[in-house]
Amino acid sequence: MVTAAAGAAAAAAAAAGAGYWFCMSPYSQALGAFPYRGTGKERVVALTFDDGPNEPYTSQIADFLADRQIRATFFQVGRAVLRYREVSRRLLADGHVIGNHSFTHEFTNCLSSRALADEVRMGQAALATIGVRPALYRPPWLLRIPGLRGVLAEHGLRPVSGEFCHPLEVFQPRARLIANGVLAKARPGSIVIFHDGHDGHEGNRASTVAAARIVVNQLTLDGYRFVTVDELLGIPAYQAPPGPPGRETPFPAGRRSACPAA
Ligand SMILES: [Zn+2]
Repeated sequence: MVTAAAGAAAAAAAAAGAGYWFCMSPYSQALGAFPYRGTGKERVVALTFDDGPNEPYTSQIADFLADRQIRATFFQVGRAVLRYREVSRRLLADGHVIGNHSFTHEFTNCLSSRALADEVRMGQAALATIGVRPALYRPPWLLRIPGLRGVLAEHGLRPVSGEFCHPLEVFQPRARLIANGVLAKARPGSIVIFHDGHDGHEGNRASTVAAARIVVNQLTLDGYRFVTVDELLGIPAYQAPPGPPGRETPFPAGRRSACPAA
């Protein structure tokens, strides 16, 4: 019995591992192209920041990057963009690239094609209010379902992966710990994933801000320069400007979910 139970547990663990690899691994290409790094040998790294804008952390990152004349890529959550439009506009004015990272960042909205379609569409609509129509999409939790490619194709979006800066970043450990995680993995062409927000909610990201500074300082000393994801991958960051009014209607203020029934 013990052997049978252990076998069942091992099989369940293997199935869970395979499921994770298939749908959530930063590296899996099982559901279509999902670039997690550039292929060149030049010492360039793309810094990316997910889940914002979230103040004051997004602006602190922007201040630091402006001081160093570095451009980065921000995958932003639509409802947070509507909360902090001026912060997103400032990022654009500073030359950063903004991509779509869903509208609500709610896990359950990433599990069906229908809910995902709403998330993607509303995310694009929120970003249209700051005058951009992104061509880049990063799935929340990097979760891909079989229907995602079709949804993205309808909106002219490409999915972009990357490597997480540190598995414990969400708990905001010491900045040095987060930075060491990045520096251990950084290679020519790396796409690094930081989080300046928390699932589109408010939240302390002071360690992330400090870690990004450490990473920039060290990689600069190591001879790296920093590029945006579109530059790194040689793909467009944006599509043609938003269409005529009514084609993409901004999400109604106060509505928190992209699912009509949620
Ligand atoms: Zn996210």
